[in-house]
Parts: sequence; structure tokens; C-alpha cells
Amino acid sequence: MLEKLVKDSKALEKAIAGEELSYDDGMELMSYDNLYMLGAAADLVRQNRVGNKVTFVASYYLNYTNVCAASCQMCAFYRKGNESDAYTLSAKDIASRIAIAKEMGATEVHIVGGFHPELPIEYYEEMFRTIKSAHPEMHIKALTAAEVFFIGRLTKNSVKEVLTRFKAAGLDTMPGGGAELFHPDIRNQIVRGKCSGQEWLDTIEQAHNLGIKSNATMLFGHIEKPEHIVDHLVKLREVQKRTKGFLTLIPLKFSLDNTELEKKGLVTAESPSTYDLKITAISRLMLANQLDNISVYWVALGKKLAQVALTYGGNDLVGTAFSEEIYKATGKGTHSSVLELANMVKEIGREPAQRDTYFNILKMF
Ligand code: SF4
Repeated sequence: MLEKLVKDSKALEKAIAGEELSYDDGMELMSYDNLYMLGAAADLVRQNRVGNKVTFVASYYLNYTNVCAASCQMCAFYRKGNESDAYTLSAKDIASRIAIAKEMGATEVHIVGGFHPELPIEYYEEMFRTIKSAHPEMHIKALTAAEVFFIGRLTKNSVKEVLTRFKAAGLDTMPGGGAELFHPDIRNQIVRGKCSGQEWLDTIEQAHNLGIKSNATMLFGHIEKPEHIVDHLVKLREVQKRTKGFLTLIPLKFSLDNTELEKKGLVTAESPSTYDLKITAISRLMLANQLDNISVYWVALGKKLAQVALTYGGNDLVGTAFSEEIYKATGKGTHSSVLELANMVKEIGREPAQRDTYFNILKMF
């Protein structure tokens, strides 16, 4: 039925037939104006690949510092170090926060921070060892590829050396942040002081090769053009073909308030929900044969739109986001209990499933 309806789009026909979409196909889909058909195709591909479960993890967010040597135009989180609300957590602070995370039922701790210009490599090793010695079962998902690259430069260690030391200290997997958009034409306009797209990709590939799996992200809804989205998805797919190291792609909707992009008037409104759904669907279709999971980040989309995005190719809600700070800096952000997320899924007639970081199912509801 759907095959007959999509005769006006070669790319959608290919997607439904299970073929890999090219860069040109991706560009065709970005200009395809029948959002309903795009969503229906993505939903079908999702169902064929992963069925009707919608997963989420009980995750506690820990931002160890907001002091950052970079000053990205799309970020409201960073401080330069002398502001009254600049902070860096000590190992003792971190230990007490992890105890809270455990009490809340978190199975993973998601640790990211600014590019602190003075922290030695031992700070991170101590952080991981402190967590693992008190709570060996707590999964540590920590440091974006951009942070690892920065720490390598700062401490004059190779990326491989940094990753090897962190893994030995207890790092299990890495979050997908810092990817933003890889294409230099757009990246140079939204980040300042962060690694290039290629450096991010090289760093994450080295992590995968060392047995450290990771998530991937894509920041959309600011000043990008269609080609930047398609370029990003194709580059992620190429790494995934070589490593199989990405666990999920989380398309991240840009949150406007308190960012330089807002203050300079370069972006005056957040993207419409129709665009957010289109990006979710195209992410599913472009990565269809290489990646099982397309995550819907409800913290950024809001719960109602997140439910709709789950019918546009999404199959995962990321997690509970206990103690989230990054989106909170833009005036958004909250957290949910596992039961609240399960109810969100039940409301749309799908099957809620709590997972671990590697997407193993822990509990059905
Ligand atoms: S996005 Fe990350 S690297 Fe860029 S300013 Fe914010 S905290 Fe620093």
C-alpha cells in the first residue's frame, strides 16, 4: 500500500525496499514536502527493524564542570571560570552525587562537562575510579569525543592514550555529544574552540576500535541547510559501517534561549515541530540498514511532540535525565521517572521497555 503511495519519490521507494539511501536521496528527502508519507515510511522501516518496543534507560546526568575554554555560539551552559555560578565538582562531590543516582534507581551515569583548561588527566581517572570503587555496577557513560580530543591536546597525550587510560580507570561507553554538525561550513559558525567534525569522527572511531561503544548526536534547528544534515548522517553511517560502535543516534533540537545565536539575532525562533519530525524520519531512513536505534530526546522536544516523533521513526526515549543541566541552561529541561516514560509509551499504543546502556532489555511494563 505504502509502496504505491510513494511513487512520487524515488528515495522513499528505495527506503521501503530496504535499499541504502545515497547522499542525493537524502537531499531529495530533505526537499520532499509530504511529511505524512515521510513519517509513514520511517515508521514502517522502524517497525521492520526493531518492532514496537520503545526503550529508555534510568540515567543520572552529572556535569562535572561548567568552566569551558571554548565558547560555542549555540551553548548557554559554559562559564569562563570567574563567574559566581562557575563550578567544578571534586571527587567527593561526585561520590555523593553517584550515591543519589543509585538511590534514584539509575543504572548509568551520563557525565559531560566544559573543556576545563586546568584539570589534569588524573582528575578524570580519579572520578571514574571513585565511582567504580563505590558502585561497581554503575555504568559510566562519560566524556564526549570533543572532550576527549580536548583533554588529549591539553595534556599532550594522544587520543588513543587518553582513551586507554580512561577505559582502564572505569569508563564504559561515551555519550554522543559534541558532534553538532560535521560540515565545516556550518560547524565554524556554531562552535568556537571545539574540535573539527573530522577530529570528532576520528576520535569516536578510535574509541570504538578500543571497545568503547558510544552514542551519536546531530544538532539541528539553528542555521543549517539541508546539505549539512545529509552530510552528517552519511558521515556517521560510514563510521558505523566500519566499527558498529554506535548504539543510537540522538537528533538534538537546538534550544534557543540564552545562546549567542539568539543574542546576535542569528536565530530568532526554534524550529517548527514539522521540521523536528522530518529530521527524525530522515535520520531513520538514512541510517536504516546500519543502526537499530533512533532516539527521541523528550527533554528537548517536550513529551507530547516526543510521542509523535516516536511514530516518525523513533524507537527510544533516551532516558530519565535525572539532574539534567545543559538544556536547563536554556530554560528547558526536567526529568522523568521510569514510570512516567513508560506511560508516555503506553499512551501511543507501543511497548515500554527499560533498557541498559547497551540496549539490553531490563524490564517490560
Ligand atoms: S558546547 Fe561544550 S565546548 Fe562548546 S561552549 Fe558549551 S560546554 Fe564548552
